Amino acid sequence: MPLDLLSVEKPARYMGGEMGSVAKPKADLRIALAFPDVYEVGMSHLGLRILYQILNALDGIAAERVYTPWPDMAAQLAAEQIALATLETSTPLAETDIIGFTLQYELSCTNILTMLRQAAIPLRSADRDQSWPLIIGGGPGAYNPEPLAPFFDAFLLGDGEEAVIEIANLVRDWKTSDSRNKQELLEKLSAVDGVYVPSFFKVEYHADGRVAAVQPLKPGYTAVRRRFLPDIESAAFPDSPIIPFMKTIHDRVAIEVARGCTRGCRFCQAGYIYRPLRERSPQRISQLIETSLKNTGYEEISLLSLSTGDYSCIGPLLQELMARHANGRVAISLPSLRVGTLTAGLIDEIRKVRKTGFTLAPEAGSERMRRVINKGITEQDLLEGALNIYAAGWRSIKLYFMMGLPTETREDLQAIPELARQVKNQARRSGGQGEVNVAVSTFVPKPHTPFQWQRQLSLDETRERQRFLKDEMRRRKLNFKYQDAELSFMEGVFARGDRRLADVLQRVVELGACFDGWNEHFSLPRWLQAFSDCGIDPAWYLRERSTDELLPWDHLDAGIEKTFLLKELERAHAEAATPDCRFGACSNCGVCDFKRLANRVVAQQEQSDAAQNDEKATQEIIQRRLRLRFSKTDNIRYLSHLELINLFTRAVQRGGVPILYSQGFHPHPRFSFATATSVGVESQAEYMDMFVGAMGPDEALACLNQVLPDGISILEATEVPLKAESLSPLIEATRYRITLPGYDPELLQKQCVQFMAQDSWVLVRQKKGQQQTIDLRQETRELSANGSCLELTIGRGKAIELTAAVTGLLPDELKTAQIQKTSVIFVAY
Ligand code: SF4
Repeated sequence: MPLDLLSVEKPARYMGGEMGSVAKPKADLRIALAFPDVYEVGMSHLGLRILYQILNALDGIAAERVYTPWPDMAAQLAAEQIALATLETSTPLAETDIIGFTLQYELSCTNILTMLRQAAIPLRSADRDQSWPLIIGGGPGAYNPEPLAPFFDAFLLGDGEEAVIEIANLVRDWKTSDSRNKQELLEKLSAVDGVYVPSFFKVEYHADGRVAAVQPLKPGYTAVRRRFLPDIESAAFPDSPIIPFMKTIHDRVAIEVARGCTRGCRFCQAGYIYRPLRERSPQRISQLIETSLKNTGYEEISLLSLSTGDYSCIGPLLQELMARHANGRVAISLPSLRVGTLTAGLIDEIRKVRKTGFTLAPEAGSERMRRVINKGITEQDLLEGALNIYAAGWRSIKLYFMMGLPTETREDLQAIPELARQVKNQARRSGGQGEVNVAVSTFVPKPHTPFQWQRQLSLDETRERQRFLKDEMRRRKLNFKYQDAELSFMEGVFARGDRRLADVLQRVVELGACFDGWNEHFSLPRWLQAFSDCGIDPAWYLRERSTDELLPWDHLDAGIEKTFLLKELERAHAEAATPDCRFGACSNCGVCDFKRLANRVVAQQEQSDAAQNDEKATQEIIQRRLRLRFSKTDNIRYLSHLELINLFTRAVQRGGVPILYSQGFHPHPRFSFATATSVGVESQAEYMDMFVGAMGPDEALACLNQVLPDGISILEATEVPLKAESLSPLIEATRYRITLPGYDPELLQKQCVQFMAQDSWVLVRQKKGQQQTIDLRQETRELSANGSCLELTIGRGKAIELTAAVTGLLPDELKTAQIQKTSVIFVAY
């Protein structure tokens, strides 16, 4: 049964068919790349984009996407007994060969189990034989996947670019082998570098719940070391990613400028599990940006890494990008800037592009606390940075802190609002007004960090400290946000959890848990019920661990020596700094072998002159106005008007149509639609005008049709004078065909005659609290029945309203009606 997309919020989440998506109806191996969150969150994830491109580039292998259905769609799937399927070919997940889940966040665990249930796949690996897809997890969550271990067949630790190809080839070969034995497949998988097969380890516990032993069950397979990609310069990168129809969380070109960070912030798991530092060259970055902008039509670039300001060539790279995109149409965002990297020159470069807000992360309020966490920035650094930012014209700075860090005292906590107030005062010093928004989250100790042994605040302690901060912030007139204490509590339980938590997970999902990372869906009572049903105390997992305790993830090797982590823990308590090994001596964390694996830092360089003379900027501008008629059919009919504008904005860029832009701070492509298109209505008669440079109508039609997705097509293109009247006031009437499945043709005929025999049929609408009246009879030019179809021509008014007026059908009864806009009648122009 097809999905009813009109009855759910944001149908574009489930449509598929976006530009850049790849559908391979025939494939030897079908892999579902599953992101356990809603579409707009998952689509923003770079890792999944990378794997999608790598796998789809292989012959015979199809990589498809699946996201967690939002509760409205989940209800529909359950009610209609429809199995969760991929977006590309609607293949039910149970019929794929591999399902690869991205493990980004502890609380998305419930979404994983929910998705398996929606796909009618047995949850536990032990209950799935070779006829079921192989279930694999990857991403940061794979460094302690123990709470998920019984549900997964394998996990991949570390960089995925090479490993996914090996895994895919291995499974493909196994599929065609004579003995399709799952155990054999797992054996083979365990031989792939970085692959962890949890069923090959047996965990034993002490009576008090601590792990007593992790027994390897396969000779020689005693620990799993993460996979390393020594160099990202030549690694595959998605320069032609999928362009979503709807707005996603990070709707822009994302270029990874570096992987790994060697700053050594002691709380930061990413800083340890992604080591060593591997930078991409500015030449390669520029090339990727150019290709990606061309292929996607995006107008924003995001330079990604754990700390983009640390990228060795950030200054020259920004200068080059600014020069290349001096027309202001492309914005550049740097989501992760470290306070110490904010030189006046860098701020000056950033100032030249759109100001998308500035976030600084001092992480802790006091100098002492920052020494404990090895943050390596002083109050003076922060205040100078803030002064420069305000002086450059920003009006608002977001400050990000953590509370509950190891050894935190009341004075350390008090220092957060005090520091934030000083930052705000910098705005006045810069000669203007400025805001500070303070965000404080609760520290959650993470595996593979020096703080993995430390305790986490209890729920009550967290709430008390949040109340304290709230009062202090209010007194200082600072905007303050904090993370929900209950979410941090549960995040902490699962971050350092063991396999026994699998029962709790399964239970809480049975009780209805899903989207637990979203405040509005998280329910602490439901979780406590699940813990109580399983006889486990969640608070026990927040405790301090003895440094000689066997940790549930000790057999998983992130490359960092445990002795190094212990030394770092001692140094934290001694408030001693550990220098960044990119600039100074190696601190012997254990990751590098200094042959294949070492920090790869690109050489500092002067400003590239590649883009200094932007020829385009000096070109004489030719203006032409093209009038296009286009169709929208199939799933494209579910797009909102804004989503359609977005689609054209991307398509003109991808198709190389020289679209002209409006002037001003936020230039927009100059096209205008005759009417706002209606969601759910198929059409052969949508009209738009676009202003372009040197390109004629035939060429524009061909260029656009080459890149537009299925379901949308330019049918006609003509050129009109630049000053031609806009289309909207020229519309006289619109023709529609309404198909009413199963409707009695004779009755319909009679109702048409009856309706046309009336002089008037007044509809009263309520719109934004205002009453509107419209005489539908007077607006109806033509009306006839053709079998179970209505053919009608109407001036003002909606086709569905007229259908209801003619037939007397109620909105619910009209849900199955298919509306097609067949043509538009214009006054002569
Ligand atoms: S081994 Fe040394 S150089 Fe390599 S990441 Fe660790 S501390 Fe830095």
